Amino acid sequence: MAAEKLIQNLKTTVSLLMTVFIFIITLIISIFWVMSKDGLLWYKVLNIVVLMLLVAFLLVTFTGVLVFYRLMQNKKIPQGLLHASNKYVVYLYPVLVFLGQMIGKDKNEIRRSFTQLNNQVLLNSSLTYKADEILILTPHCLQQTMCDIKITHDIRQCKKCGKCSVEGLLHLQEKYGVETQVVTGGTLARLRIKEKKPKMIIAIACERDLMSGLMDVKGIPVYAIINDRPEGPCQNTSVDIDVVKNMLDRFLRRD
Ligand code: SF4
Repeated sequence: MAAEKLIQNLKTTVSLLMTVFIFIITLIISIFWVMSKDGLLWYKVLNIVVLMLLVAFLLVTFTGVLVFYRLMQNKKIPQGLLHASNKYVVYLYPVLVFLGQMIGKDKNEIRRSFTQLNNQVLLNSSLTYKADEILILTPHCLQQTMCDIKITHDIRQCKKCGKCSVEGLLHLQEKYGVETQVVTGGTLARLRIKEKKPKMIIAIACERDLMSGLMDVKGIPVYAIINDRPEGPCQNTSVDIDVVKNMLDRFLRRD
C-alpha cells in the first residue's frame, strides 16, 4: 500500500516536470520563430541569452524526470543527483503548482507528492543523528480542544489522559530523548529551529504548512508527516504515532 502511494506520488511529480519540459520546449520554439524575423542586433543577442538559459533549464528538468523515473522503478541513483533533483523540485514548487492546477491537479495532491518525494530522498540516504540533534515540530491543533491544559510549547505539561496524539509524542520523547515542540505557526517554528539548531527535523502538519516549511528551512533535512484531520483543518487533528516512532528508529544513531 505504502509502495503504491509512493509510486502514485512520484508519478504526479514526473507528470508535472514533463509539463514544465513541454512548456520550455514551446518557449524555445517561439524564440526561434522570433529570431527568424529581421531585428536589431541587441534584440537577437538578448534572444540567444534567453535561449541558452532555457536550454539549461530544459536539461535540468529532463534530468529530474529521469531521476524520479528511476526512483519509481526502485533503481539506484547517486545520492548527490537525488538531493539536487529534490531541491530543484522544491525551488520550482510555485511554478509546478501553477502548471499542475492548469492540468487539473489538486493542490494538496501536488503538495503530498512533493512531501513524499522529499521523505523518500531522506530515507534513501544513510543519514543518522543523535537524539539531541533531532527536533520534532508539531502544530497546536494536535491537542484536544477540550483539554484544560494549554500546551504552548513544552509537551511535558500533558497529563497523558489519552484523548489526543500529544500523549503518544510525550511517550516517544521520554523513550527516545528526542524533543517535541508544539508550534502555532511558521514564525514560531522558525524561532524554535533558531534556538535549538537541530541537525534534522521531523515535522508534523498539514500539506500546506509542510510544503512552506520545506521551502523555508534551508540546509536541515526535514522528514514531513501529514497529520490526519477527521474534524477538518486546524481542530483536533492527530498523527499516526507509529509513523513517528518508525522514523525515530530509522534516523536515531545509537552510539
Ligand atoms: S493527552 Fe495530554 S494534551 Fe491531549 S487531551 Fe489529554 S492531557 Fe490534554
